[in-house]
Formats: sequence, C-alpha cells, structure tokens
Amino acid sequence: MKKLGLYIHIPFCIKKCDYCDFVSFDSKNNRIESYAGAVICQIKKYAPFLKDYETDSVYLGGGTPTALPVRFLTEILKTVRENVNLTKDCEITCEANPRTGSEELFLQLKAAGVNRISLGLQTAIDSELSALGRIGSKDMVTGTVEGIKKAGIDNFSVDIMYSIPNQTPQTLAQTLEFAISQKPKHISAYALKIGQGTPLFERKEELNLPDEDGDIAMYRQCIDTLKDAGYMQYEISNFAKEGFKSRHNLKYWNCNEYLGIGCGAHSYFGGKRFCFTADLDKYINGVLNDISIVEDAMDIPQSEMVEEYIMLKFRLCEGIDPKDFGRRFGFPFETAFAPQIERFTGSGHMIKENGRYHLTFDGFTISNYIIASFFNE
Ligand code: SF4
Repeated sequence: MKKLGLYIHIPFCIKKCDYCDFVSFDSKNNRIESYAGAVICQIKKYAPFLKDYETDSVYLGGGTPTALPVRFLTEILKTVRENVNLTKDCEITCEANPRTGSEELFLQLKAAGVNRISLGLQTAIDSELSALGRIGSKDMVTGTVEGIKKAGIDNFSVDIMYSIPNQTPQTLAQTLEFAISQKPKHISAYALKIGQGTPLFERKEELNLPDEDGDIAMYRQCIDTLKDAGYMQYEISNFAKEGFKSRHNLKYWNCNEYLGIGCGAHSYFGGKRFCFTADLDKYINGVLNDISIVEDAMDIPQSEMVEEYIMLKFRLCEGIDPKDFGRRFGFPFETAFAPQIERFTGSGHMIKENGRYHLTFDGFTISNYIIASFFNE
C-alpha cells in the first residue's frame, strides 16, 4: 500500500498574533461546531479514495486546534480511525498553544489517539511575546509541559523563534536554555516571518529587528546550542533527538503524498496539487451541500516537480540523492545541474557526502539564492 500523511486544519485561535497571515479565525466564532461537522463530513467523503493508502501520520494543525472544545477533536479523530487505514505506529500530532493546555485536555487527546504534541513557545521572554502580539507566557509553557508529561505523552516538540523584535543573543540564549530544560524530543527554530498586511508588517520600519548578519548569527546560535544539547539538525529549521524527527513534516520535504482536510488546507495527492477555499462559510457550505470548494487544482508538470524536489530536498541536511533523482525524473542530476554543482561545491555552500549533495551552514543561509540559481541559469 502507498503511504500517506493526513493533515487536518483547525483554523481558530484565541487571539490572532500580530505577524500571522495563516488561515485562522477567532475561536469565539459561532461556526466552530458546523466547521467540525464539515471536517468530519469531508473525511468520510475522501474515505473511498484512501483505500489503497496506509496513513502513517495524522497532523492536527492550525490555527490552534486546542482552542476548540476537545470533544470536537475527539470526534474528528474518531472519524479518522473509522475511515482511514492507520498504521499501528501512526504518528498523531496535535498542535497546542501554551495558553490552551491542561493535563485533562492532554489526557483526552491521548485517549483520542494523539501521541505527539507540537507546542508553540516562540520565546521564553514575556516582553518579546508581547512584541509579537502573542498570548501566553513562559510560566504557562511550564504548566502545559507538565500536563503533557502527566498525561503520558512523552513525544512533544517545542517551536522557538529568532530574529524577533528586541531579541538579543542573550535573550535568545535564555529561550533556548528554557526550551531545552523542558526536555522535548524535537525543537523547531524558525526566523520570524512577518506576514503581509499584518499589524507588525504595518509597523515594520519602527521595529528593532536584527540585520542580515545578526539574523545569521542567531541562526548559528540555535544550531550550536541545540547540537550541544543533543538535538540533531535534520532540516534547515528542525532538530530532533535520535528517532524523533517529525514524520509528518518529512512527507512535505521528501515530496511524498499528503491529503489536507479543512478550510484552506493544501494537498499533494493522486499526482495533483490542490487546496480548499480559505473562506470559512464557503468551506462549510460547500462540504455540507456538495458544492466544489477546490481551488488551484493542477497536474504538476515535470519541470515544476523537479523545481519543487530540489527546493524541498535542499532543506534537508541529507540533501539530494542523485540516484533517487534519476529514478523519479529519468535524467541525471549531476549532468543536468553540473554548472551549479561545480559553482556551489567550489564556494563551500554545497558538499557531496556519502553520494548525496547537501547544503552546508553557509549554503543554508543563502538557500533561496542557491535554489533559484538551479532554475534561472
Ligand atoms: S497561534 Fe499560530 S496560527 Fe494562531 S494566530 Fe498565532 S501564529 Fe497564527
């Protein structure tokens, strides 16, 4: 059977963060119940198309899934179990915001099948959280982590952020130290991305943000600190203890199939890419009344597949295996991209190790430029 990752989008948050342009709505929204009903209905509709697949990862993402009453999440996961072939060791992740976590909640999520939590810390400095317009605090994270552990879920991930307003190497060190002290199995460290049209975007010029060198120095600080603490970097922004890489996210980076259910969710499924409408009412109404909610569906031409493969694989520390590339696309990687390989291995931005090409630290810092040069030159 083919392997599949199932993503379920829960687009509600208690408060919109000031930099965020994800599809998410106020969790006091009176359409939560109808939304959960539409998600359940959509899972059932897709069930006949999933018969040839074994799903080895399910990811409840958002938004903030735990902003919903837990009974909706339980019902959604029950529907998944009844309609989808899950592997015995299926990784079932639920994203959580520290403000919305309690032992009772995690016990219920565990009973519903969740075996991995992804927790958004971002920073352990409360004034930096305020600068991001995020709710929560460092103390809430401590309480939430306690709840996760007491509920018997030992696989959890913590997200942190660097290059945020007013952050210094010292405050980033405190955040890293705090995150590590919680003993997560996995840590993601992303640079702040300020979404267009968000409150922070409007004030971007006034913000005290690091320059390019400061940004690179903070990235290096994350890598070095996490390495010293036993977290192996396996992707540009992701670090894990042995055996705890994110199975779900690896599906994206390895160009494997995934189905996204929910408002604004994206899929790569059955050789096509498509996404569902990000309009909440249109989504609920469409699913419940059999009106198409698919947007941007397309068969992906080989040239785009190649581009995407190179872009995603170069995010991974293991990089590109020329043999795998040849099997997928029917032409040799090393011949087709000889000038780029020569240029970037010569400059120290790329290296060939164990038969694979991967970016070095310096390569990661200019990965967009390197990837673009594979297609524009
Ligand atoms: S909690 Fe996450 S999804 Fe919700 S507004 Fe903040 S960044 Fe966006």
